[in-house]
Amino acid sequence: MGSNELTDPQSLKISLLCRGISVSPAAEAALTGDGTTPMSVHEYPTTGGLTLVLEDDTYVNAPFDEPIKQAPEATLLFAQQEQPPFRVLFSRQEFPARVLPLPGFLSARDSRGRPVTEAVFSHADRARLSPIGGCHNNCDFCDSPLRNYELRPAEQLVEALSIAAMDTALPVHHVVISGGTARQSDYGYFGEVCQSILRNARMPVDVMMSAQLGTDLIDQLCSWGAYGFSINMELYDEEVARRIAPQKRGSGLQEFRASVERAVQNTGGSGRVRSLLLVGLEPEEQTLKGVEFLAELGCDPVLSPFRPAPGTPLASQPGPSYELLESVYLRSLDIVDRYGVKLGPRCIPCMHNTLNFPDRSGAYYYSRDLRCWS
Ligand code: SF4
Repeated sequence: MGSNELTDPQSLKISLLCRGISVSPAAEAALTGDGTTPMSVHEYPTTGGLTLVLEDDTYVNAPFDEPIKQAPEATLLFAQQEQPPFRVLFSRQEFPARVLPLPGFLSARDSRGRPVTEAVFSHADRARLSPIGGCHNNCDFCDSPLRNYELRPAEQLVEALSIAAMDTALPVHHVVISGGTARQSDYGYFGEVCQSILRNARMPVDVMMSAQLGTDLIDQLCSWGAYGFSINMELYDEEVARRIAPQKRGSGLQEFRASVERAVQNTGGSGRVRSLLLVGLEPEEQTLKGVEFLAELGCDPVLSPFRPAPGTPLASQPGPSYELLESVYLRSLDIVDRYGVKLGPRCIPCMHNTLNFPDRSGAYYYSRDLRCWS
């Protein structure tokens, strides 16, 4: 198979990302215990689907009840007597699948009676902690600004992580500190909370942060033991970025470049610094220029298919087509090859909501196998 051809499971993943999946009544009954538990929780725009594991370690979050699900080509089937019991019917072929469960702490409360999911949620093998509820910025594709801006105390986040870390339903092997962007007056708070989490987490911790927070914080986070960074560009095209993500674009790409360079210097790159680009909100050529911009800095570009989120200004904007996703993926592979980086993320389960697949280069891994955190 040439480098410009997709395997069948890869084609299926791309179809699921842009067209979603139908769930047969038998599969729905199996997933929900005959209607007693939810099939998913919509707490983040790109994680509200079913997380499936297909052949070749292909992880995909497949929307089943979101606006993007239009005329799905794939159907999830269930037959108790089959091994495995879940299969995806696509292009007249059946693909064996596993469906990852939801975390086991959905109804848990912490020692002060707060819902644990207020501070943490797990997807695949990663726990996401959110020090900031809501967001100071206002990007048109994101639903964080729809929630109240609030600061969560460090003790709440650390306790929530300790509960998530003991979850046996969906075991976690690493952490990302994410959530909304802090107001400038709260930058100090954000740093202190990150320090507490890094001191207490017994597993690798990545920090997803806006370039606005500055390079000094990146130095500090590294000295406190941060494993990696996600400094998301979102959009490369200047006009589109200024129109739909004006605060995040801030003073321009120079500020962004400085933060990515500092993170790469501190961590040595090698997949520890990545940056997300949305696919489907700007011309393809501009996304590819963004891929090249990031790759040249030693940063792994992460291709994230745009998924319209209810309640946001872009809720009725169509998602990207199959053809666009396939083209951007294949053309991006050529670009990252030239610069010696990879498409991110490197963690295989965390690829579930991104346009990426593990290859045989040895660059991709399961975070449960990581041993190198300080
Ligand atoms: S900065 Fe991030 S969290 Fe805030 S609105 Fe933009 S994309 Fe959402």
